[in-house]
Amino acid sequence: PPAGTGTGVSSATGGHGISGGDQSRDGRLQVVNEKQEFTKQLSPYLSKWNLLDKGFAYDVVAVFGSQSTGKSTLLNRLFGTSFDVMDESKRQQTTKGIWMCPSKYGNTLVMDVEGTDGRERGEDQDFERKSALFSLASTEVLIVNLWEHQIGLYNGANMGLLKTVFEVNLGLFGGGGDTNKPRPQEKTLILFVIRDHVGSTPMSNLTATLTQDMEKIWASLSKPQHLADATLSSYFDLSFAALPHKVLMPEKFEEAVLELRKRFTDRSREDYVFQPSYHKRIPADGVGFYMEGIWQQVLSNKDLDLPTQQELLAQFRCDEISTVVTEAFLASSKVVRRPVEVGTVVDGLGALMRDWLNTALGRFDRDASRYHAGVYQRKRLDLLASLHSSLSPLFMGQMKNLHKVETAKFSKAIVAGVKEPGYDFGNVVKQGKEGARARFVEAAKEVQIEGTDWEYEHELALLEDDLRLIADQCRADETKKMVNAIERTVKRQLLEPVEVALSQPSTKMWDTVLETYRSVSESGEEAYLVKAKSYNCTEEENAAAIAVLRARIWLSLRRKLEEQTSDATILATLRSNFEERFRYDEAGVPRVWKPADDIEAAFRRSKDDTLALLPLFANISPSSPSLLPTLPSPEASFDSESDPTPFDPSTAFVLLSPTKLLSIETRFKREADAAYVEAKRSMVSSVAQ
Ligand code: GDP
Ligand code: MG
Repeated sequence: PPAGTGTGVSSATGGHGISGGDQSRDGRLQVVNEKQEFTKQLSPYLSKWNLLDKGFAYDVVAVFGSQSTGKSTLLNRLFGTSFDVMDESKRQQTTKGIWMCPSKYGNTLVMDVEGTDGRERGEDQDFERKSALFSLASTEVLIVNLWEHQIGLYNGANMGLLKTVFEVNLGLFGGGGDTNKPRPQEKTLILFVIRDHVGSTPMSNLTATLTQDMEKIWASLSKPQHLADATLSSYFDLSFAALPHKVLMPEKFEEAVLELRKRFTDRSREDYVFQPSYHKRIPADGVGFYMEGIWQQVLSNKDLDLPTQQELLAQFRCDEISTVVTEAFLASSKVVRRPVEVGTVVDGLGALMRDWLNTALGRFDRDASRYHAGVYQRKRLDLLASLHSSLSPLFMGQMKNLHKVETAKFSKAIVAGVKEPGYDFGNVVKQGKEGARARFVEAAKEVQIEGTDWEYEHELALLEDDLRLIADQCRADETKKMVNAIERTVKRQLLEPVEVALSQPSTKMWDTVLETYRSVSESGEEAYLVKAKSYNCTEEENAAAIAVLRARIWLSLRRKLEEQTSDATILATLRSNFEERFRYDEAGVPRVWKPADDIEAAFRRSKDDTLALLPLFANISPSSPSLLPTLPSPEASFDSESDPTPFDPSTAFVLLSPTKLLSIETRFKREADAAYVEAKRSMVSSVAQ
């Protein structure tokens, strides 16, 4: 059966039939149109063709040659593509432009250049030059398609075309001799496909002729200074294939095409065309941007050098990849932003952050490391810095929240600690501080990220300040409590002896009172100092607490004395004294008055003796003035009442004024008189019985 005639794609032959190919790879794309505009669809198409994520694992082949030499036909047969082929019957021109189509036999992009043949038609060679530049910038293998009979015609159209190819190639890698720039892959394979090979001239002759021609063209180029010594072979490898006449020997043609296809698909072959050294090292996901950039440069006739293009590409793609990576990163970190903002300490936040960072950098490295190394490294640093700074508020927030949690825990620990029986306040504080500090530092270290300048020392210092303040406040409270407790004990020890002493008035009474006062005060102060040892109080704090204690003890003594010297109490004291003397005899037996008794004398004696006691209550007057205590300072008493009397040396020891004494004396006399009258009456009535 006749193989496809001209249209190429119309029928399938052999095991690699088109219908058995990858259906998603159908369809071609006009990369550059007749108006020399570059398509916006390249990346979407690469994606549709399943090539976008191939990294470097894809190849590019382009074809060059005179118009109507069967280029498109060849590509369609070789790669199963669907490029337009000139309709034999109409001799109609195909659409001008650069077309792209994926191969059905491997991850290969095939480019077909359709143009007017400037040389033959006398038109300008502008598009030819542009498309040559464009192809060389991305192609590993450039197929140069030519009729056998064109070989050796040195001045023929093909040779002019190749001269153009060589010239533009020099420009691409010339780079003005800037040796600082990294040199991209420079080599390209030129595969001559000799069409309508009759076979009468041995292949070796044809390839020798072509090789010589190439060398001649190379020699004839005017090269830039720094490339004067460059050889053809430093930029191009030459390879050859021949195909029989497609119309006259269709079967032979098909056989030869299948054989040739193997050179594009079988890596194990020695003449496999896609050698790594030809790859232009543009990652598949950068091809769209790169090719468009190349075309724009070509269009504007600016100097086009590939190192610069690759850097531009790397910048663009690394930025794009960073954006994608950052979006995912922010999305994953979002879950903890709110909790941190509202004050939660997020457990394992550091591990989470490290995980997001690793994921983000892993993705970035995977996709971006294929691009220009310098740019990639720089962009990686940028990305890392921006990721770090987006995490920084989380770190700060966590520090703040830890601070809050630990101060709260510390307060609680103290409150709980001082409820323990026999607690040592100093220890409670010390342990609380140590615990808070250790937990804070551990959590802070967990959330620290390598490579950042995040530090927790400042926040730790703030925490320690706060803990100190809390401890100080608690200590003040505790000290107050302690002073109160001691005051209660002291009062118990003081008040009863004082009451007893004053209820049995005597000249020794004040010595007893002041002696008791002195000794209970001293033991109170001692008790304070013993307890205060564990509180780490300062000298001033101790002094202040003791001053308070002294003022309180003095005040309670003063109050007790005032109470004991109130009218009613004194009268009661005097009354019981008087009755003791008047109603009981020396042996303590109640007297029964008899008519012989001198009631009057007994009455007067008892009354006068009792009245002699009254002045004892007027002042605190010990046997020696040196026994009088030093008065404490009133400010220390915590007392809201501002009665200066107890603290003023001129009033502090005075209990009863002369007027008061007189009035008490009068009242007492009246009561005593009543007792006398009653005694008299009782005697009369006993006599009467
Ligand atoms: P292109 O312009 O180089 O892409 O050429 P086409 O593939 O469009 O083919 C141009 C014409 O050459 C068409 O009519 C094809 O049928 C014919 N053709 C294709 N392959 C061969 C071949 O191997 N030998 C000859 N003589 N003609 C061919
Ligand atoms: Mg064509």
